Amino acid sequence: MDKFKKVLRFNPLIGISKEFCQIIKIEGKVCLQCRRKGIKTIMSKKHLEEDHQINIFGFQRLWNEIRDYFIHEKKQVIDNSSRN
Ligand SMILES: [Zn+2]
Repeated sequence: MDKFKKVLRFNPLIGISKEFCQIIKIEGKVCLQCRRKGIKTIMSKKHLEEDHQINIFGFQRLWNEIRDYFIHEKKQVIDNSSRN
């Protein structure tokens, strides 16, 4: 019967919304405020916090939380299936 056991696959990229992609794009854009001053830099989380005192969540942290959620869910499903 083990031959017919269903393979559990988890892909954290499934369900990633357009908004998440927009967050990544925004953090990669050139900072217009600094460009006017002749400074070429992107609007990364670090730049916004250090140079403009703007706190954002940041796509890296968001991605880490999505990934951790999937790892946690995968572990729970595996634990539950091994009990049966
Ligand atoms: Zn700037």
